[in-house]
Order: sequence, then C-alpha cells, then structure tokens
Amino acid sequence: MKKHNYSAGPSILPQEVFEKASKAILDFNDSGLSILEISHRSKDFVAVMDEARSLALELLGLQGKGYQALFLQGGASTAFLMAPYNLMKENGKAAYLDSGTWATAAIKEAKYFGETVIVGSSKEENYNHIPKGYEIPSDADYFHCTSNNTIFGTQMKEFPTTNVPVVCDMSSDIFSRDLDFSKFDLIYAGAQKNMGPAGTTLVVVKEEILEKNGRTIPSMLDYAKHIKAESMYNTPPVFSVYVSLLTLQWIKSKGGVAAVEKLNDAKADLLYAEIDRNPLFKGAAAVEDRSKMNVTFLLNNDEHTATFDALWKEAGISGLPGHRSVGGYRASIYNAMPIESVQVLVDVMKALETKI
Ligand SMILES: *Cc1c(COP(=O)(O)O)cnc(C)c1O
Repeated sequence: MKKHNYSAGPSILPQEVFEKASKAILDFNDSGLSILEISHRSKDFVAVMDEARSLALELLGLQGKGYQALFLQGGASTAFLMAPYNLMKENGKAAYLDSGTWATAAIKEAKYFGETVIVGSSKEENYNHIPKGYEIPSDADYFHCTSNNTIFGTQMKEFPTTNVPVVCDMSSDIFSRDLDFSKFDLIYAGAQKNMGPAGTTLVVVKEEILEKNGRTIPSMLDYAKHIKAESMYNTPPVFSVYVSLLTLQWIKSKGGVAAVEKLNDAKADLLYAEIDRNPLFKGAAAVEDRSKMNVTFLLNNDEHTATFDALWKEAGISGLPGHRSVGGYRASIYNAMPIESVQVLVDVMKALETKI
C-alpha cells in the first residue's frame, strides 16, 4: 500500500509523475529507447530541457522579463558558493539573513569570497522565527535569504525592498506559492524538495546581474557560461530534469502556482488548526512565521511519544520524525501531498487523545 509520505527531502512527488517517469525509463516517447540511454544532444532530450527551462519561467511569471532558467548539478549546496562567485566583487561584501541551518551553510561559503555581513539572525532562539527589522547595507553586492527553513518550519512571508540584488534559496517552497518573483534577481532550489528527484538544481537568474563582478570564474561555476550553453555545458542530469519537467507540467495542469497555493493553504490550515486545538501538541515555530511546507510540532509530554509513534505508523504514515536540531515531528506537506493524507495525520492526532 502506498504510504502517506511526509519526508522532508527527497520527498513526495505526484503519483502520475512517478508513473510517466517509469514509462520513460522503458520507452521514451515511443522511440524504442529508454530516456536513460539516449544522447542529451538528441532532439528528444533537447526538447525536454527547452520545455523545462521555459515552463519554469512561465510558472514563476518571469517569461520575457530578462530571466534565464538553468538546471544544474551540485545541489543547493553548490549554489551557496556559486552565488558569491558570480555576484560578489573582489573585496566586496554581501548581506545575509541567518534564518536557519541552510542559511548558515550559505554564509559559510560566502566567507570564502569576501566580507559577509549578517544583517539579522534568530540563532539565539534556535531559529524558531524569521529575523525582522533588519537593514541591508546599500553598498552590499547582494542580499541573500532563505524563503523557507526546511528544518525549523519557518517561512518568510515578506521580502525586503532594497536597491541591491536579492538572492533567495527557495529549495523547499519553490512553486508552492505565488510571489512577485521579479523582486528576486537570483533564485535557486535543489529539486528534491518540491520539484523533482535529487540530482538537479533549478537556477533562475536575471541576466543583467551577471558578468559584472570582475572575477574570473571556473566554467562549471559560471552562470553566464551555463546560459550560453543553454544549460548543456556538460551532460545534464537527464532523468532529474525530465522528472522535474513532468512535475512542472503537473503544476500547470492544476492551474499553475496560484491554484496550487490554494491547496497548500488548505492543507496547512487543517494541520495547524489541529496542532492549536489539541492539548497534547504544540507548534515549534512562531505563529506568524509558520511554514506552509514543513510543519514542525512537538508533544507537550514526551511520555506519549511511543503511543503516538505507533499510531501514525499504523496509519501508513512515513517520514514524520523531526530533524534532530528541533526534535518532535515535522510534517512536510509539499505540493504533491494530497489533503486526504493530511486528514489521516489529523485523525491520528485526535485518536491520541482517546488512547492516553
Ligand atoms: C535541502 C536544502 C538545501 C540543501 O540542498 P542540497 O541540494 O542537498 O545541497 C539547501 N537549502 C534548503 C532550504 C534546503 O531545504
């Protein structure tokens, strides 16, 4: 039986995407060949890459606005260093918002390239909220933030207005909500949270910010080179790109990002309502910053852990334990998670009240 998969990443994808992807492994586009054995320069695969790149821009409302989409490798962790390499001047500086573990990892990489100013941090409170009221120095080469903190279950609801380029790690909430994406100059997202399988990273970049920092950049780390090569500078991760394309097509078929956001809102409302109602549980993140993708919560009394764990396992739920730095539970309710699965979790939380 198919489980209710709450894994934080790699994570759930639409069932129809799994089905189409498995067909393409055996016979891609009725070609008599597997997608895994054809040239990435073949007409069939070039069409996949082209459609994935243009559909990503279309879904973000960025087509014809000077942006390019790339499907690269190395995960979001490589984007942590590509951002400063491509945008920070020699002896320049960058501004970072320290909102969690991944933000901290991005800051660590930026330090290899120059001065890194941490404009706000919630580290002292174990990142249970998004830092606010910070100021971005107007002479920074860029400002970097993390839209959704996968581990702590917090999400930025507002983004600063600033004269410096805005870089955002959207790994765990890309395509989950409608924002004015033209406020961002560089967006990156590891596919394996909300877009596809592990192995590719979506990069959306405003072309005009590139090739301005005066650095000599090694080819594989140079966004401009990847753009010139149409995201085929070297062999791309063909299967990850293909499965990401299938997911993007699925989002479009649902009515696009705004339509998917409505479903995500309903799922998050359902689960947070139960966390707030049920006296046995409490939310881990500040209410105003609660993530609609990663819902972190705790039992008020650790003595109920074994009973609760047995109940959700029995109900066919998988991947619910929280990250070790928060403890408790984390329900990752990405785009592909049906509301019916969220209802199963809510029912289990209610059932716990009758079992103790
Ligand atoms: C998972 C995650 C990362 C790390 O992604 P990799 O692809 O494993 O490098 C970075 N940022 C955020 C917000 C994440 O959720």
